Amino acid sequence: MSVLIAGAGPVGLSAACVLAEAGVPVTVLEAEPRLPENPRASTFQPPTLDLLDRFGAAAQLIGMGRIARKVQYRDRADWVAELDFGVLAGETKHPYRVQCEQYRLNQVLAARVPGVRYGAEVTGVEQDADGVTVTVNGREKLRAAWLIGADGGRSRVREAVGIRLEGFTWPERFLVASTPFDFAQSFPGLADVSYFADREEWFFLLRVRDVWRAMFPTRPEESEAQILSDAAIERRLQRVHARPGRYEVAHRTLYSVHQRVAESYRRGRVFLAGDAAHLNNPLGGMGMNGGIHDAFNLAGKLAAVMRGEAPAEELERYERQRRPVALEYVNRITIANKRNLEMSDAGEQQRWRAELAQAMSDRAAEKDYMLRISMIASLRKYECA
Ligand SMILES: Cc1cc2nc3c(=O)[nH]c(=O)nc-3n(C[C@H](O)[C@H](O)[C@H](O)COP(=O)(O)OP(=O)(O)OC[C@H]3O[C@@H](n4cnc5c(N)ncnc54)[C@H](O)[C@@H]3O)c2cc1C
Repeated sequence: MSVLIAGAGPVGLSAACVLAEAGVPVTVLEAEPRLPENPRASTFQPPTLDLLDRFGAAAQLIGMGRIARKVQYRDRADWVAELDFGVLAGETKHPYRVQCEQYRLNQVLAARVPGVRYGAEVTGVEQDADGVTVTVNGREKLRAAWLIGADGGRSRVREAVGIRLEGFTWPERFLVASTPFDFAQSFPGLADVSYFADREEWFFLLRVRDVWRAMFPTRPEESEAQILSDAAIERRLQRVHARPGRYEVAHRTLYSVHQRVAESYRRGRVFLAGDAAHLNNPLGGMGMNGGIHDAFNLAGKLAAVMRGEAPAEELERYERQRRPVALEYVNRITIANKRNLEMSDAGEQQRWRAELAQAMSDRAAEKDYMLRISMIASLRKYECA
């Protein structure tokens, strides 16, 4: 009795660590020849650090990244609100975010999993009452009791079992440009996580260990080549902070932004987790984190059932606990984050500022707000479902 996992991203590897720790035989099938080193997500939320602590990974992320204790919402002149993760002390072992590129977590977790096969693309999935047969690279057949599809937004596993990803795609794509220039020099008191509302074009600044990452929306009519050109990136960075000389750009990515959730997280012996199950815009740093929460939830249940410590019905709780989080919580917060940053109506801006002022009005209100944005509230709300 073994488990196959499609995808060696943060979600597949987290699930593999939980299963391997429980003594369940597990193989991770990764299409790429080696672990990709694309920065992508870089926010680790407090409850995610609590989960990863089990494998010593939280301390390693802290060593490779930066602790972010505060988040700011700003306009160009000053901050409008500054909220402190410190209010979460007593609710989590990690009352802060850690900013570190997600591929570094993948490297840490992959080192703990004996069975990662690279260059192994899942190309087909069939199942019967006793197990799942997975086709690898169009020819090899592997058999297991269960399959976890953690193969990202374009999941082959999801397609093979006929689960629809419902929702919508925003017309604009997001650009992320990283630079070693220290924006803290340009904006005194700048927090490591800072959202800038701006009538012309919002942006978001986030600091990892060696660089600042600046995120911008782009216009649908701009071509990829235009957006990624040196000149266009320079123009956008100069709008953040005008300075003599050019910005050094360490990394640039343009990506489509979706708000989508799979109609179901399970088909028989096949489960979906992470981006294969849900996609959201990155404002709030919730996509990867929610995926890691899926992985720990599902793998814990699979291990208990496979070891005979829980009945098979326990597996039904996975979708009940995790799908509402993506639908009602992550989707709602990330859509609101995007709308708050881009709104140009003065009345709407006033409403948002009043909401932030209320969150800062006393420690209880701040704690309530931080429990929501750190994803602790979402885990607690559905844990009994
Ligand atoms: C620019 C950017 C910024 C982001 N910022 C944040 C953030 O700050 N915070 C946050 O929480 N989230 C963020 N996200 C989202 C985050 O990157 C994803 O949610 C996260 O990578 C999901 O992890 P995953 O393991 O589900 O999928 P992935 O990381 O996509 O991993 C899937 C793996 O499966 C492999 N694979 C694909 N198809 C197959 C196949 N058929 N067979 C075998 N292997 C296959 C892929 O090669 C890949 O290694 C961001 C995303 C982007 C693009």
